[in-house]
This record gives sequence, structure tokens and C-alpha cells, in this order.
Amino acid sequence: MGVPIIGCPCAICQRKEERLRSSALLTIGGKKLLIDAGPDFRRQALLHKVEDIDALILTHSHYDHIGGLEDLRIIYYQKKEKIPCYLSTETLQEWRTKTHITPLFSPYILPEKSGPCTIEGLDACAFYFWQNDTKVQGYRFGDLAYITDISDYEEEIFSHLSGISTLVISACNLKRSPLHLGLECAVAFAEKTSANKVFFTHLSHEIDTRIVSFPGSYSNVEQTQAFAYDGLTINFTY
Ligand SMILES: [Zn+2]
Ligand SMILES: [Zn+2]
Repeated sequence: MGVPIIGCPCAICQRKEERLRSSALLTIGGKKLLIDAGPDFRRQALLHKVEDIDALILTHSHYDHIGGLEDLRIIYYQKKEKIPCYLSTETLQEWRTKTHITPLFSPYILPEKSGPCTIEGLDACAFYFWQNDTKVQGYRFGDLAYITDISDYEEEIFSHLSGISTLVISACNLKRSPLHLGLECAVAFAEKTSANKVFFTHLSHEIDTRIVSFPGSYSNVEQTQAFAYDGLTINFTY
């Protein structure tokens, strides 16, 4: 729902700490890849001067991740060509059942199974997990992995994360729910990877980033964890 939530009297919503819907822009060797375009895309693009992208990558087709797709039309108009859109068969099918696929995009279907793939000529890895009954894709580029809207996964996922240094993972709430791991389980997940920098994203108004401390103890003392925030820039190696 984003933060602040309309009409919510809670302290976080009242202090108007804005958390727009989760998205990320990857810049790799001059290529700009946008991960998801939720209903806040237009505002995010204006705020952070995202004036063009080379491709769109989708994680899944829930509204908070695709609600702003139509606002990418300015990029289509300027380039006068369709925007490549990388996604799974399932995401494409669900997108079709929710709304028409506008002619703005050329879909590129990712391999059905988790593993290496090529995105805009770049070596990447797309791996799958679940948000309740929805199949969701995570992505790895170099030493960075981006995982959002995860509630269930198979242990095999860690084989695709081997050697990563930076992990972006959704937390949403403090406790686990049918749709999200929650901060506690997200921390436990991160601890099972080699990431020494972990950023928690997709935070709801339940998480007061000023007072919540990270649960659990860390075997990897070098690991730094932080709450992501709108406009955060992270460097990674590709
Ligand atoms: Zn609230
Ligand atoms: Zn979401």
C-alpha cells in the first residue's frame, strides 16, 4: 500500500515518512535496467531523474509491481521502439488476465528453471521462489542479488546466491505472514548467504526503522544490515 497509508493514524504514517512501492534501477556498463514499475513509478522517475531505461525486468505481476507500466509510455515515445520486458511465462500470463499488454513492450520470456540467463546482453541469473501461490523471480547480476515478495523458497535458491556480496531482500512486516518472510525470517535468510551487505526493502508501516533493531545473532560479523529507503544508491560489482 505504500507508506503513509491513506487514513492510517499510526505514528509512522503520521510522521509522513514516505516509502513508495518497491522498485530498483540497475545501471551496468551504460545499460539501465528497471526492476518493476509499481503505481509510484511516475513519481519515482521524476524524483530520481529516471529519464530513460533500456529494459524492464519484472519480478511478478502484483499491482504494487506493475501498476505503473503504462507510465513507461514516455520512454516508448522517445525511443520510438518497444521496451524489452524480461519476465517469466507465469508473470506474463497473470499480467494478461489482469489487464491488456500494451504495445509498449516486447516480452522476453526467461528460462523456466532457475539459472543463468542473458538480459540485454548481460549475463545474469533468474531464480524462482514463491509469494504464497504466486511464482516470483529474483535476479542476480554480478555480486548483487535482488529478492522481493518472498514467502516460501526451496533450499536450492542458495546455490544461485553463492558468492554474492550484496543482497536486497523484502521484509515488509516484523513477523512472517502468508505473503512475506517478515524481518526475522529475512534476516535468517540473509545469514545463509555470503552477502556482507544486506538491505531490507518493501517495508510496511509496521516497521519503524528508527527503533527496530535487527533480530538474531550473526555468525558473519562482517555483515552489515540496513533498511533500504527511497532513493538509496548501492554500488555493486558486475
Ligand atoms: Zn500506518
Ligand atoms: Zn510487493
